[in-house]
Amino acid sequence: MPQELDQIDIAILNSLIEDGRKSFRQIGREIKISTPTVQARYRRLVNLGFIKSVSPVLDMSKLDKKYQKEIKSISQTKSKLPMVKDDDKLSVKVSCDFCEQPIHGSPKVIKFGEYERFFCCTSCRSLYKEKYGGRIHSLSNEINEF
Ligand SMILES: [Zn+2]
Repeated sequence: MPQELDQIDIAILNSLIEDGRKSFRQIGREIKISTPTVQARYRRLVNLGFIKSVSPVLDMSKLDKKYQKEIKSISQTKSKLPMVKDDDKLSVKVSCDFCEQPIHGSPKVIKFGEYERFFCCTSCRSLYKEKYGGRIHSLSNEINEF
């Protein structure tokens, strides 16, 4: 017998399709239901086999050019990263969270709560803090810069 999905199930799924990294608590707040309800509904959707899997969506264009050609497609929408040898590392391009320019060298960072923001220079970091200060403080009391 087919199982029915109600408005809550659909809202949870759409919220996860937007961003699969959201916590059950974030989803609950967003659609105004309790965290345990989100969790129970999520589990049911997994058990029904409707949520097949959760996998990260990578921005392969941020990968260093020399590895671009080695990316292995496993389906039309999914690719695997190339494995590196020994001490070799993959490098991923990062852009400034304030001016959006590519960051060369080591980024200036702000950490608050579970968030981390990257900047090209200390002035972008200060300007970001000025602009989003209220929001940063509402998310965490502990703000670290380095
Ligand atoms: Zn910048």
